[in-house]
Amino acid sequence: MAAPVIVLEDVHLTLGSARNAVHVLKGVDLSVRAGESVGIVGPSGSGKSTLLMVLAGLERADSGLVQIAGQALEGLSEDRLAAFRGQNVGIVFQSFHLIPNMTALENVAVPLELAGAANAFHRAEAELASVGLKERVHHYPGELSGGEQQRVAIARALAPEPAILIADEPTGNLDQETGRQIADLLFAEQRRRQMTLVLVTHDKTLADRCDREVAVRAGRIVPEAPTSHARPAVEPAL
Ligand code: ADP
Ligand code: MG
Repeated sequence: MAAPVIVLEDVHLTLGSARNAVHVLKGVDLSVRAGESVGIVGPSGSGKSTLLMVLAGLERADSGLVQIAGQALEGLSEDRLAAFRGQNVGIVFQSFHLIPNMTALENVAVPLELAGAANAFHRAEAELASVGLKERVHHYPGELSGGEQQRVAIARALAPEPAILIADEPTGNLDQETGRQIADLLFAEQRRRQMTLVLVTHDKTLADRCDREVAVRAGRIVPEAPTSHARPAVEPAL
C-alpha cells in the first residue's frame, strides 16, 4: 500500500490576537496515502479551512507534526516553505481567487513564471486546454462564468504539477450541474495525474465520491462512516 504523503500528528493552532484568540485546531491527527482522495466534512466553524491552510503550508501549526511529501514543515524557513508549497501543493478555493485584471492565461502563467518555470505561457495554454478552456484563454475573470472561473483556478493549481491538490468547497459557489462538472474534472485530473486530493465540502454526493471521508468537529478529526467503495484507512493489524 502507498506510503502516506500527508501526516499530521496532534496538530494545534490558535488564531487571532491575544484578546480574541481562538484555539481552532485542537490535536488533529490525519494520515493520507499517496493517490488517495479524502473528503473532509463538518459543521461551519469547526476548523476545516484552517486545517487545509496547515496542509498547504499557508499556516504554520503551533505544535505537532506536519509532514508533507516526506518533509516536516516545522523547521523550514519562510522562503523554503514557499518554494516547497509551490512545488508540492496546489490549492483551489470556493471563491476562485483569480486576479481580476489578468486574463485566464495570465492567471495561470504568471505564477508559473514567478516560480521560475520555463515556457510558462505555453504550459499555461496547455493546462487551460486540458480543463476545456481553449477558447477562453484571453478572457478576463469578469467575462467568464463561475464554472469557467473555477476551471481557470484548477488549471492554475495543476500547472506546477503538484503531488497534492487541496480544494476548499470547490463547488460551493456553483449551481448543482456546474458543480458536478467541476467535481468530474477534479476527479478525472486526480486519476490522470495520480495526485492526492484532499477536499472540504458540504456536498454529500461530492464527499461520497472520495475514497474516504473524515469529519472535523470542534478542531479534531472524527471518523465518518466509510463510503461504499472506501479502502481501509490503515492497514489492519495482523
Ligand atoms: P470552517 O472552514 O470549518 O468553517 P474555519 O477553519 O474557517 O472553519 O474557522 C474555524 C474557527 O476559527 C472559526 O470559529 C473562526 O471564527 C476561527 N478563525 C478562523 N480564522 C481566524 C483568524 N484569523 N483569527 C481568529 N479566529 C479565526
Ligand atoms: Mg471553511
